[in-house]
This record gives sequence, structure tokens and C-alpha cells, in this order.
Amino acid sequence: MFSFSTIKNYHFQLQQNQLSCTDVVNYYLQRIKSNQVLNAFVEVYEKEACTRAMELDNLRKKGEPLKKLHGVVIAIKDVICFKGHKVSAASGILQNFLSLYTASALQFLLEEDAIIIGNCNCDEFAMGSSNENSFYGNVLNAADHSRVPGGSSGGSAVAVQADLCMLSLGSDTGGSVRQPADFCGIIGLKPGYGSISRYGLIAYASSFDQIGIFGRTIEDVSLLLQVMNKKDLHDSTMNNEPALLTGVNDKNRKYNFCYLKETLEHTSLDTEIASEISAYFQTLRNNGHTVSEINFDLLDYIVPAYYVLTTAEASSNLSRYDGVRFGSVTDKMNDLTDFYFENRTKGFGKEVKRRIMLGTFVLSAGYYDAYYRKAQQVRKLLVTRFDSIFSSYDAVLSPVSPTPAFKAGLKNNDPTATYLADIYTVIANLTGIPAISLPLFSHSYSIPFGIQVMTNRKEELSLLQISDLLINIKNN
Ligand code: GLN
Repeated sequence: MFSFSTIKNYHFQLQQNQLSCTDVVNYYLQRIKSNQVLNAFVEVYEKEACTRAMELDNLRKKGEPLKKLHGVVIAIKDVICFKGHKVSAASGILQNFLSLYTASALQFLLEEDAIIIGNCNCDEFAMGSSNENSFYGNVLNAADHSRVPGGSSGGSAVAVQADLCMLSLGSDTGGSVRQPADFCGIIGLKPGYGSISRYGLIAYASSFDQIGIFGRTIEDVSLLLQVMNKKDLHDSTMNNEPALLTGVNDKNRKYNFCYLKETLEHTSLDTEIASEISAYFQTLRNNGHTVSEINFDLLDYIVPAYYVLTTAEASSNLSRYDGVRFGSVTDKMNDLTDFYFENRTKGFGKEVKRRIMLGTFVLSAGYYDAYYRKAQQVRKLLVTRFDSIFSSYDAVLSPVSPTPAFKAGLKNNDPTATYLADIYTVIANLTGIPAISLPLFSHSYSIPFGIQVMTNRKEELSLLQISDLLINIKNN
């Protein structure tokens, strides 16, 4: 085990010649090999990572100043394109597909000399909450192999949890970074919509998708966000100005927090999670912050709205996998309809098919007004409601998931139960605000869980400062 606490500390040790990038890459490659049972990686870029480490070691020896991510070992979710490397969204339909270009967010990491060690397993097309919907099989939670790591970015979460890399990228459409971070006891950040370019991220639901970051410290997660938070002309939905990410952190500042009453009283919420979080609110008050309870009558509408809108978008986004534009091709066909039918039947897994069907249904003439339009109205209401909440409060605190990491196989046959468990995370994607999960607690099942913090749009800086504070308060 290397003993660097942060990237800054790692860089210090590199400059003192206490270690090299090559040592570190070898260490992670070794860890990946001895933890293969976790099934966290789809592919490990062994040769490439070693070569890059050597190049960086040579650069350093020549006295070149270190770039921001010099030698930082990062894994990416199998939905992020990396030119010349396979990307499949953990789907059979994209098996052996090679990326034609590199995602902008990843390009920004490479330009700062990060080392990409491999791509991580996930739920097919990022649809799921347990990493049990992958073409490559389940990912195991390193804290308890009988439990799921969460999803859909389960592999990326486990890669950090099990110390197989320093940081990793996931994608978060409705909680796929925050929930697996919660299940694995690490930090998971979903930036606000438009803060990180989506160019080169395989789409699930475009108006919800965001690349997110897994890490162990707020300092490192902030640095990665800073590097990726750049305007990109390839993504027209980006914010015009990058978020303000550096600023003085006034450690004595007292915050105005709130929580939505209905979230803590929800019948699905594990009692231990509810009581730990309530007790923690009291700790915050004892530290001079206010934590107010507010009423929120929209909670029951958010999961339905999320699933109507995301499946609608998914049905459209996934129409390109037809064997003509993208996707593997059958040799068994009689006519064109048959050709599409065979390709899509063979290529997609069960959950993806379910969502395509649901999405085409809610968009179809006759049902559009009843479902799709209604869900959009709910989304609008939520945005307005959260705007008004943030005019009085600095941040909203909530559980991340109603339960801690559950046993593998438990929810396999119950998609509705799985969907309903997204109740706390989808709000941030419906409204486009930044949100983070912080690993503050441990459950009597001997697994970790955390708390979610949400701030207003473009307030990533305040989100990170608050996160720092919350972790410190917990540790003191
Ligand atoms: N669990 C949610 C879903 O299945 C979240 C997915 C995600 O954020 N990619 O849609």
C-alpha cells in the first residue's frame, strides 16, 4: 500500500524521488490482478499505462514541472469514449466496438498527464442500480462480496473502493455515481448539468446525463472537477461560464441547511440510516449550523417523472443501435425489419429492452400527453421549487439511498422496487443541480453508507466546501 493521502502528497513524494509513476502503476496493476474476483474492470490498459508511466518518469527526471494530474492513475466507466480503445456501455450490442474519438472530459485529463489504467464494468447503457445488468457479469462490493456495489457505475466505484486506482469516472443520470459511492464508502460527485462536457459519453438520457467523479478526498475530487470543468464547443448544452471552483474556504462560516421532511420519514428508509442522519443533524446544530425541516409534497412524483422522461430519451438515443449505424450485425435475416429485429433482440439485455419499450410507449400518440407531458410539468415544478429552496438555504441534505448495499440477486425480479430506491438521487438530475455523496457512517451490517448534499446550480464550489466541513465535523 502506498501512503499518499492526496494527489498533492503523491506529487510531493514523486519530487522527493521516494517513488515513481512506474512503481505506482505496477502497484495498481498488481492490485487489479489480485482482485479480479470483483469484476470491476472490463479492460486493463496494462502496456499503455506502463509506457505512459515511464514517459512521465523521464519527463520528471529532465526537470519538467509537473502538470496537475501528472501520473495520477484513473479508471473510466465503459461509457466514455477513448480513441482506439473498446467501449461497449457493457452491452452485447457494442461488443468489440472501438471508440473513434476521445471524450472531451477524458481529453482534459490526458492533457494534464493523467494515466488511464482501464475501463470499468457498469450496468448496460448505465441503466440500473446494482451492476447486475452488465453483459460482463456482476460486480462485487469489496466490503462484502455477497452485496452489490450499487450501479450503474459499480465498477468505477469498486475500483476506488478496493484501491485499484486513485480516482475514477462514472456517469450519473439518476444517481449512478452517488449511489454506488454510498454503497462502497467513498465520495461520489455529480456536478451540475452543463459543468462537464458530455461529448464522447455514450448517451442514456441526454438531458440528465453527467460525467461524475469517484474519489477518497474532497481535495482530489475538486482537482479532477477543475480539470474537466472546461467549455467545450462539442457540447452545446454546457454552461457558458465554467463554475467558479476556487475560492477561500471560510472554515468558521455557519451554514443554513435544510432537509425535506418527507425524505426522512419515508417508509422505505432503513431505520438505522434515518436515525444516524437525524443524530448527525443534531451534531451540525451543536456546531452552530442551522438544519431546518421543510415540507415537500412532490416526493412521490419524482421517481415516476424520472422514469417517464429518461426512458423516453433512452428510446430515442438507443435507436441508433440497429446494426446499420451502430451495433453488431446478425447473419440471419429475411428482410430489413427482420434485420433490425434480430440485431436488437440479440444485442440488448432485458433491462434495456424494458426501458426502450416503456420509452416508446410514453412518447406514442395518445399517451404522450398523459405521461410525457405530465412528467415534464413535474420537472418544471421541481426546478421552481428548488430555486425557491435555495433562495433561503445553502444546501439540502438527504439520505443517498433508502437502504445500504443490498444482497446480490435480491431485487433482480422486481424492477419497480429497484426504480423506487432512486427516490433520493433523481431530484438532482431532474433539476440539473450538483450533488455529492459523502461516506460518513457505517451500518450494523458492517458496510458503509453516507449522506447526500445538494446545492444550487453552478454552486459546485460551495458544495465542495460544505462537503469538506461535513467530513471534518464527523471526524472530530
Ligand atoms: N438507477 C438509475 C437508473 O437506473 C440511475 C442510472 C444512472 O444514473 N445512470 O436509471
